[in-house]
Amino acid sequence: MTLSLNCKDAGDPVCTHTMYGETEEELLENAKRHGIEAHGYTEETFNERIGKDKENFRKLIKTA
Ligand SMILES: [Zn+2]
Repeated sequence: MTLSLNCKDAGDPVCTHTMYGETEEELLENAKRHGIEAHGYTEETFNERIGKDKENFRKLIKTA
């Protein structure tokens, strides 16, 4: 089972990048890498954002 998360669903107005992972942890890791590379997050600000919003973040994950 592959999990996916679309950046746009996560609240970005323009980015439609989709991240994948086999586990929630892996998906979160990929999302973090994308956030850092594409959206100017640092590890710290990303963790802060997700830490506050983890429940919502989980709801955005799709299984395929
Ligand atoms: Zn993005």
